[in-house]
Amino acid sequence: MSGQLTVVGLGPGPSEWITPAADATISTADVVLGYESYLARLSPRRGQIFEASDNREELTRARRALELASSGKRVVIVSGGDPGVFAMAAAVFESVDNAPELANEIDIRVEPGVTAVLAAAARIGAPLGNDFCVISLSDNLKPWAMIEKRLRLAAEADFVIALYNPASKARPDQIQEAFRVLQTVRAPQTIVAFARAVGRTDESIEITTLADASKALCDMRTVVLIGSPSTRAVHGSDGRTWVYTPRFVRDA
Ligand code: SAH
Repeated sequence: MSGQLTVVGLGPGPSEWITPAADATISTADVVLGYESYLARLSPRRGQIFEASDNREELTRARRALELASSGKRVVIVSGGDPGVFAMAAAVFESVDNAPELANEIDIRVEPGVTAVLAAAARIGAPLGNDFCVISLSDNLKPWAMIEKRLRLAAEADFVIALYNPASKARPDQIQEAFRVLQTVRAPQTIVAFARAVGRTDESIEITTLADASKALCDMRTVVLIGSPSTRAVHGSDGRTWVYTPRFVRDA
Protein backbone atom coordinates (compact mmCIF):
# COMPACT_ATOMS: atom_id res chain seq x y z
CA MET A 1 0.00 0.00 0.00
CA SER A 2 1.41 3.41 -0.86
CA GLY A 3 -0.79 5.52 1.39
CA GLN A 4 -3.77 5.65 3.71
CA LEU A 5 -7.00 7.56 3.61
CA THR A 6 -9.29 7.43 6.65
CA VAL A 7 -12.62 9.23 6.83
CA VAL A 8 -13.16 10.17 10.46
CA GLY A 9 -16.22 11.36 12.39
CA LEU A 10 -15.69 14.00 15.09
CA GLY A 11 -19.10 13.60 16.78
CA PRO A 12 -21.57 16.46 17.26
CA GLY A 13 -19.32 18.85 19.20
CA PRO A 14 -17.36 18.26 22.38
CA SER A 15 -13.99 16.50 22.26
CA GLU A 16 -15.20 13.87 24.80
CA TRP A 17 -17.49 12.62 22.03
CA ILE A 18 -14.58 11.92 19.66
CA THR A 19 -13.79 8.20 19.91
CA PRO A 20 -10.29 7.17 21.02
CA ALA A 21 -9.87 5.39 17.65
CA ALA A 22 -10.75 8.58 15.72
CA ASP A 23 -8.39 10.58 17.91
CA ALA A 24 -5.53 8.13 17.36
CA THR A 25 -6.05 8.16 13.58
CA ILE A 26 -6.03 11.97 13.47
CA SER A 27 -2.89 12.22 15.60
CA THR A 28 -0.84 10.02 13.24
CA ALA A 29 -2.01 11.71 9.99
CA ASP A 30 0.35 13.71 7.76
CA VAL A 31 -2.51 15.76 6.29
CA VAL A 32 -6.00 16.47 7.69
CA LEU A 33 -8.63 17.82 5.31
CA GLY A 34 -12.08 19.15 6.11
CA TYR A 35 -14.53 21.96 6.38
CA GLU A 36 -12.89 24.76 8.35
CA SER A 37 -15.28 24.69 11.31
CA TYR A 38 -14.49 20.98 11.84
CA LEU A 39 -10.71 21.56 11.59
CA ALA A 40 -11.08 24.38 14.13
CA ARG A 41 -12.07 21.73 16.69
CA LEU A 42 -8.60 20.11 16.40
CA SER A 43 -5.03 21.30 17.00
CA PRO A 44 -2.39 20.25 14.47
CA ARG A 45 0.55 18.44 15.97
CA ARG A 46 4.06 19.40 14.87
CA GLY A 47 4.62 18.86 11.13
CA GLN A 48 0.98 18.07 10.42
CA ILE A 49 -0.75 19.92 7.58
CA PHE A 50 -4.38 21.07 7.93
CA GLU A 51 -6.17 21.86 4.64
CA ALA A 52 -9.53 23.60 5.00
CA SER A 53 -12.10 23.78 2.23
CA ASP A 54 -15.65 24.92 1.70
CA ASN A 55 -18.46 22.57 2.70
CA ARG A 56 -19.87 22.60 -0.84
CA GLU A 57 -16.66 21.15 -2.30
CA GLU A 58 -17.01 17.58 -1.05
CA LEU A 59 -16.04 15.78 -4.27
CA THR A 60 -13.05 18.07 -4.89
CA ARG A 61 -11.88 17.47 -1.30
CA ALA A 62 -12.35 13.70 -1.65
CA ARG A 63 -10.34 13.67 -4.88
CA ARG A 64 -7.58 15.77 -3.34
CA ALA A 65 -7.42 13.35 -0.38
CA LEU A 66 -7.13 10.34 -2.72
CA GLU A 67 -4.33 12.07 -4.66
CA LEU A 68 -2.42 12.89 -1.46
CA ALA A 69 -2.82 9.31 -0.25
CA SER A 70 -1.54 7.91 -3.56
CA SER A 71 1.60 9.96 -3.10
CA GLY A 72 2.24 7.88 0.06
CA LYS A 73 0.82 10.19 2.73
CA ARG A 74 -1.36 9.27 5.71
CA VAL A 75 -4.46 11.34 5.03
CA VAL A 76 -7.54 11.98 7.18
CA ILE A 77 -10.75 13.65 6.08
CA VAL A 78 -12.90 14.82 8.99
CA SER A 79 -16.70 15.10 9.12
CA GLY A 80 -18.97 16.20 11.93
CA GLY A 81 -20.92 13.41 13.65
CA ASP A 82 -20.50 10.12 11.82
CA PRO A 83 -18.64 10.37 8.49
CA GLY A 84 -21.09 8.02 6.77
CA VAL A 85 -24.28 9.93 7.68
CA PHE A 86 -24.89 12.69 5.10
CA ALA A 87 -21.14 13.26 5.07
CA MET A 88 -17.73 12.75 3.49
CA ALA A 89 -17.44 8.94 3.37
CA ALA A 90 -19.99 8.77 0.54
CA ALA A 91 -18.10 11.48 -1.38
CA VAL A 92 -14.87 9.46 -1.08
CA PHE A 93 -16.48 6.30 -2.46
CA GLU A 94 -18.27 8.29 -5.17
CA SER A 95 -14.87 9.65 -6.26
CA VAL A 96 -13.49 6.10 -6.36
CA ASP A 97 -16.57 4.99 -8.32
CA ASN A 98 -15.96 7.80 -10.86
CA ALA A 99 -12.23 7.11 -11.17
CA PRO A 100 -11.24 3.71 -9.71
CA GLU A 101 -7.56 4.27 -10.61
CA LEU A 102 -7.46 6.98 -7.91
CA ALA A 103 -7.75 4.29 -5.23
CA ASN A 104 -4.85 2.15 -6.48
CA GLU A 105 -2.67 1.01 -3.61
CA ILE A 106 -4.53 3.13 -1.04
CA ASP A 107 -5.73 1.66 2.24
CA ILE A 108 -9.15 3.35 2.60
CA ARG A 109 -10.95 3.17 5.97
CA VAL A 110 -13.94 4.75 7.66
CA GLU A 111 -13.79 5.51 11.40
CA PRO A 112 -17.26 5.89 12.95
CA GLY A 113 -18.44 8.78 15.09
CA VAL A 114 -21.47 9.68 17.21
CA THR A 115 -24.11 10.91 14.79
CA ALA A 116 -26.20 13.94 15.82
CA VAL A 117 -29.46 12.06 16.36
CA LEU A 118 -27.88 9.78 18.97
CA ALA A 119 -26.61 12.75 20.99
CA ALA A 120 -29.97 14.51 20.59
CA ALA A 121 -31.88 11.39 21.69
CA ALA A 122 -29.71 11.02 24.79
CA ARG A 123 -30.55 14.58 25.86
CA ILE A 124 -34.27 14.08 25.26
CA GLY A 125 -34.61 10.71 27.00
CA ALA A 126 -35.08 7.57 24.90
CA PRO A 127 -37.08 8.60 21.82
CA LEU A 128 -35.35 5.96 19.65
CA GLY A 129 -36.48 3.00 21.79
CA ASN A 130 -38.42 1.62 18.83
CA ASP A 131 -38.02 1.74 15.03
CA PHE A 132 -36.88 5.06 13.62
CA CYS A 133 -35.63 6.64 10.43
CA VAL A 134 -33.46 9.59 9.53
CA ILE A 135 -34.33 11.98 6.70
CA SER A 136 -32.31 14.97 5.50
CA LEU A 137 -34.52 17.90 4.53
CA SER A 138 -31.87 19.36 2.24
CA ASP A 139 -33.08 19.41 -1.34
CA ASN A 140 -29.66 20.42 -2.68
CA LEU A 141 -28.96 16.78 -3.46
CA LYS A 142 -32.43 15.31 -4.02
CA PRO A 143 -35.79 16.64 -5.25
CA TRP A 144 -38.27 18.05 -2.71
CA ALA A 145 -40.98 15.72 -4.09
CA MET A 146 -38.89 12.76 -2.91
CA ILE A 147 -38.51 14.29 0.55
CA GLU A 148 -42.29 14.78 0.81
CA LYS A 149 -42.90 11.17 -0.25
CA ARG A 150 -40.43 9.84 2.33
CA LEU A 151 -41.93 11.99 5.09
CA ARG A 152 -45.45 10.83 4.29
CA LEU A 153 -44.56 7.13 4.04
CA ALA A 154 -42.36 7.20 7.16
CA ALA A 155 -45.23 8.84 9.04
CA GLU A 156 -47.67 6.22 7.74
CA ALA A 157 -45.29 3.44 8.81
CA ASP A 158 -45.27 4.82 12.40
CA PHE A 159 -41.51 5.44 12.51
CA VAL A 160 -40.04 7.95 14.89
CA ILE A 161 -38.57 10.40 12.35
CA ALA A 162 -35.35 12.35 12.83
CA LEU A 163 -34.89 15.31 10.49
CA TYR A 164 -31.34 16.46 9.68
CA ASN A 165 -30.63 19.72 7.82
CA PRO A 166 -34.08 21.07 8.80
CA ALA A 167 -33.34 24.66 7.79
CA SER A 168 -30.66 26.91 6.37
CA LYS A 169 -30.48 30.53 5.27
CA ALA A 170 -31.37 29.45 1.73
CA ARG A 171 -34.17 27.11 2.93
CA PRO A 172 -35.83 28.77 5.93
CA ASP A 173 -39.39 27.55 5.25
CA GLN A 174 -39.10 23.92 4.19
CA ILE A 175 -39.43 22.66 7.75
CA GLN A 176 -42.87 24.29 7.91
CA GLU A 177 -43.75 22.47 4.70
CA ALA A 178 -42.47 19.21 6.26
CA PHE A 179 -44.71 19.76 9.32
CA ARG A 180 -47.65 20.31 6.97
CA VAL A 181 -47.00 16.93 5.26
CA LEU A 182 -46.59 15.17 8.63
CA GLN A 183 -49.81 16.75 9.94
CA THR A 184 -51.76 15.05 7.13
CA VAL A 185 -50.85 11.69 8.74
CA ARG A 186 -49.93 12.24 12.42
CA ALA A 187 -52.14 13.56 15.23
CA PRO A 188 -51.73 17.19 16.38
CA GLN A 189 -50.60 16.03 19.86
CA THR A 190 -47.67 14.01 18.39
CA ILE A 191 -44.53 14.86 20.38
CA VAL A 192 -41.92 16.92 18.52
CA ALA A 193 -38.50 17.69 19.98
CA PHE A 194 -36.01 20.27 18.74
CA ALA A 195 -32.41 19.51 19.76
CA ARG A 196 -30.21 22.44 18.86
CA ALA A 197 -26.39 22.62 19.03
CA VAL A 198 -26.23 19.46 21.15
CA GLY A 199 -23.00 19.27 23.15
CA ARG A 200 -22.16 22.94 22.52
CA THR A 201 -22.30 25.80 25.00
CA ASP A 202 -25.43 27.18 23.32
CA GLU A 203 -27.30 23.84 23.35
CA SER A 204 -31.08 24.03 23.67
CA ILE A 205 -33.74 21.34 23.81
CA GLU A 206 -37.42 22.18 23.23
CA ILE A 207 -40.25 19.68 23.51
CA THR A 208 -43.59 20.52 21.96
CA THR A 209 -46.33 18.99 19.78
CA LEU A 210 -46.82 18.77 16.05
CA ALA A 211 -49.66 21.32 16.31
CA ASP A 212 -47.33 23.85 17.96
CA ALA A 213 -44.08 23.01 16.13
CA SER A 214 -42.62 26.13 14.58
CA LYS A 215 -39.76 26.84 12.23
CA ALA A 216 -38.53 29.44 14.72
CA LEU A 217 -37.19 26.60 16.89
CA CYS A 218 -34.71 25.30 14.34
CA ASP A 219 -31.64 26.24 12.37
CA MET A 220 -28.95 24.31 10.53
CA ARG A 221 -27.51 22.92 13.81
CA THR A 222 -30.79 21.34 14.92
CA VAL A 223 -32.12 17.80 14.77
CA VAL A 224 -35.92 17.67 14.81
CA LEU A 225 -37.43 14.47 16.23
CA ILE A 226 -41.03 13.61 15.39
CA GLY A 227 -42.46 11.06 17.80
CA SER A 228 -44.34 7.97 16.64
CA PRO A 229 -47.94 7.39 17.82
CA SER A 230 -46.52 5.47 20.82
CA THR A 231 -43.88 8.07 21.83
CA ARG A 232 -44.72 9.48 25.28
CA ALA A 233 -43.59 12.18 27.67
CA VAL A 234 -42.89 11.53 31.38
CA HIS A 235 -42.46 14.30 33.91
CA GLY A 236 -39.92 14.13 36.72
CA SER A 237 -40.69 15.61 40.15
CA ASP A 238 -38.24 18.45 39.34
CA GLY A 239 -40.49 19.49 36.43
CA ARG A 240 -38.18 17.98 33.86
CA THR A 241 -39.77 16.26 30.84
CA TRP A 242 -38.35 13.07 29.34
CA VAL A 243 -39.53 11.68 26.03
CA TYR A 244 -39.38 7.97 25.32
CA THR A 245 -40.70 5.44 22.84
CA PRO A 246 -41.63 2.13 24.51
CA ARG A 247 -39.82 -0.99 23.32
CA PHE A 248 -43.16 -2.79 22.84
CA VAL A 249 -45.82 -1.77 20.33
CA ARG A 250 -49.08 -3.59 20.97
CA ASP A 251 -51.39 -2.47 18.15
CA ALA A 252 -50.45 -2.70 14.50
N1 SAH B 1 -22.44 13.65 9.61
C1 SAH B 1 -23.27 14.43 10.53
C2 SAH B 1 -24.50 15.01 9.86
C3 SAH B 1 -24.19 16.02 8.78
S1 SAH B 1 -25.64 16.79 8.19
C4 SAH B 1 -23.70 13.51 11.70
O1 SAH B 1 -23.54 12.30 11.61
O2 SAH B 1 -24.21 14.05 12.70
C5 SAH B 1 -25.71 18.23 9.23
C6 SAH B 1 -26.89 18.15 10.18
O3 SAH B 1 -26.57 17.37 11.32
C7 SAH B 1 -27.33 19.49 10.75
O4 SAH B 1 -28.15 20.21 9.85
C8 SAH B 1 -28.11 19.04 11.97
O5 SAH B 1 -29.39 18.55 11.58
C9 SAH B 1 -27.28 17.83 12.44
N2 SAH B 1 -26.31 18.22 13.49
C10 SAH B 1 -24.97 18.18 13.42
N3 SAH B 1 -24.41 18.55 14.59
C11 SAH B 1 -25.42 18.82 15.43
C12 SAH B 1 -25.49 19.23 16.82
N4 SAH B 1 -24.39 19.43 17.56
N5 SAH B 1 -26.72 19.40 17.37
C13 SAH B 1 -27.85 19.17 16.65
N6 SAH B 1 -27.84 18.79 15.35
C14 SAH B 1 -26.64 18.61 14.75
